[in-house]
Amino acid sequence: MKQLPEFGRKKDDLLKQLDEAKKHDANWKNGRTWSLVYYAGEEITEISKEAYMKYFHENGLNPMAFPSLRRFETEVLSMTASLFNGDDQTVGSLTSGGTESILMAVKTYRDYARKMKPEILEPEMILPISVHAAFEKAAHYFNVKPIHIPLTDDFRADVKQLENAITKNTILIVGSAPSYPHGVIDPIEKMADIASMHNIPFHVDACLGGFLLPFLQKLDYEIPPFDFRVPGVTSISADIHKYGYAAKGVSTILYKNDSYRKHQYFAYSDWPGGLFVSPTATGTRPGGAIASAWAVMNYIGMDGYINLAKKTMEITKQLLNGIRTIDELKILGNPDASVFTIASEEVNVYALADRMEQLGWHIDRQQFPACLHFMVTPAHEQIVETFLSDLKRAVKDVKENPEKFTEGSAAMYGMAGTIPDRSEVNDYLVQTLDQLMRLEN
Ligand SMILES: *Cc1c(COP(=O)(O)O)cnc(C)c1O
Repeated sequence: MKQLPEFGRKKDDLLKQLDEAKKHDANWKNGRTWSLVYYAGEEITEISKEAYMKYFHENGLNPMAFPSLRRFETEVLSMTASLFNGDDQTVGSLTSGGTESILMAVKTYRDYARKMKPEILEPEMILPISVHAAFEKAAHYFNVKPIHIPLTDDFRADVKQLENAITKNTILIVGSAPSYPHGVIDPIEKMADIASMHNIPFHVDACLGGFLLPFLQKLDYEIPPFDFRVPGVTSISADIHKYGYAAKGVSTILYKNDSYRKHQYFAYSDWPGGLFVSPTATGTRPGGAIASAWAVMNYIGMDGYINLAKKTMEITKQLLNGIRTIDELKILGNPDASVFTIASEEVNVYALADRMEQLGWHIDRQQFPACLHFMVTPAHEQIVETFLSDLKRAVKDVKENPEKFTEGSAAMYGMAGTIPDRSEVNDYLVQTLDQLMRLEN
């Protein structure tokens, strides 16, 4: 086992080691990564960092001790609510990320139902299969049964199936704007309509699109209403640490009004440690992430976000146009924003991904159907040409020598896709993670 060094080590030495260690990580700054990092250039990164450092040690846990953080938080929520056309009833919380926002929404509606419909003993929520896996996690954590509905040919939630899936136990319906896997917006208006006819809350997961779609609407892109303008929408999650470009660790969950949010809160007045009340899942919260969100949103402003959204969409269009000239490949559905997939009936896309990795790209694989996943940011401006030419080359290589690319992810996804008992695959995933996270010797 590793021990603490007997004597503290030198700063220079440690910082050098950190820099060295990074060298084998995904390279995002040069646009060769398509997820995980949202980078809009040095200028925005600098303001984010400086704001973070000013609040490096502060703790968002107690809004009485740090009234400045409370104000930044409520201002950030207010600016976000106005992007989503909320009104003076809109309320919300900052969380550590999209997953926490989603966990909180599911917990809130479970507890709301316990209060309003106590006859429900086995709560269910209706999820299009394309919702983010965080909803499955929430289902698991909070004992809400996920009822899945399929997608139509355009990869949007199948509204016809929604009505059939509703039971007396349904406590929540979810739609995505856009969905993580295919980058398309679910038919939010129709879904919310059905939800409100049945008096069921409706959550829009805009974790990905929350800081993109409002600006695309201003740019006159064809983006259907997905926010509080839609009467049945009762809450929205949106990540500031994605297309909001803030430091990691900050997302929003907004509710139409107080009657929902109060079920998110947790209070405990019998604790020897004091009278306890907490809005979200976390205790200690990094003040830096809150300060970063506030500073970055003010720094970029409406004009800046509109320009960034425009640029992102132009890069996306160039990529899509280029990919569509490659006969062997196709894009699934009709992406509404800057997220798209590549699929193929002629080449194994997992083999294609393995070949692209050899050429220095970090590629995300998806399944059901097999496809590769891309999220475009301004950082990809520099790579459009190289990416397209590498992609053409990789398609050719895989087509000419398919036997050369039968290991790696091609083998793993190929196998995982054929196992009917999904719990076996889950066990395998858990084992793999266990192995990866073994303590360092
Ligand atoms: C990223 C994402 C999430 C989860 O957010 P994290 O910040 O990674 O926890 C949820 N939903 C969608 C649509 C997302 O893109």
